[in-house]
Amino acid sequence: MRTVVLDPGHGGSEPRALSTPHGVRGPCGTQEKELTLALARRVRAQLEPHVRVHLTRDTDRNVSLEERAALARRLGASAFVSLHANEGRPGERGCETWVHPHAAPPSRALAAQVQRALARVIGPGRGVKSGGLALLDPARLGSSTDACMVELDYLSDRAAERRLRDGATLDAIACALAGAVREHIAAAERYGKTLARVLAAPQPSPCAHRYEIARSALPSSTALVKQHLGGMAAGKVALIIRTNEIPKGGEVDVAGCGGLRR
Ligand SMILES: [Zn+2]
Repeated sequence: MRTVVLDPGHGGSEPRALSTPHGVRGPCGTQEKELTLALARRVRAQLEPHVRVHLTRDTDRNVSLEERAALARRLGASAFVSLHANEGRPGERGCETWVHPHAAPPSRALAAQVQRALARVIGPGRGVKSGGLALLDPARLGSSTDACMVELDYLSDRAAERRLRDGATLDAIACALAGAVREHIAAAERYGKTLARVLAAPQPSPCAHRYEIARSALPSSTALVKQHLGGMAAGKVALIIRTNEIPKGGEVDVAGCGGLRR
């Protein structure tokens, strides 16, 4: 069974290395540390029992960024998702998802999937961003863990805070996040983590994922495929895989997409 580590940002009342205790505080007093824990518990409830879920903290305590990443590494987690809320000028809104500049393509795929899912609930997003966050450093997490960090919305904005305090909204966000993580794990199982590499190019549609797979690594039949063969290095193919079109247990012969380069 796959393991997912959810990381509710901040916690407790003492700083721990680079992890501040309270995080952002909304105009009505909502603390980021409370919001992230409430959400992490909801996401866990959505993912279990099909996925083993660990929280970096399940109480109001702070954990250093190193320890958070180390837990994911120790458990050999397939995915690590850190939960935060943003702070900015009044009126600034929108979700964003972060990856480390050294992140491997599967982490970027996870981030893209999470960002799309969040934007559907929270509203127009600010996209996937890259930054040298210690928490997401592949050198700390290990190569088997795909990792991203989400900034749900601007807790500093009164309207955003009101939404994030609402239990039904949190449930919807949890459902979206859990769905994105489940999809990501399913794709990794279907195509093989080291073989399937998501291309950095813009996604052709919100439900499609572009994978680059070595021709020799293609399974004899590949679930649902649309061709996208231009500009690829020899020996590679690029496939557009529409996850929402994959029939349960169904497979489409990859030869059907025509013109595969060898
Ligand atoms: Zn934070």
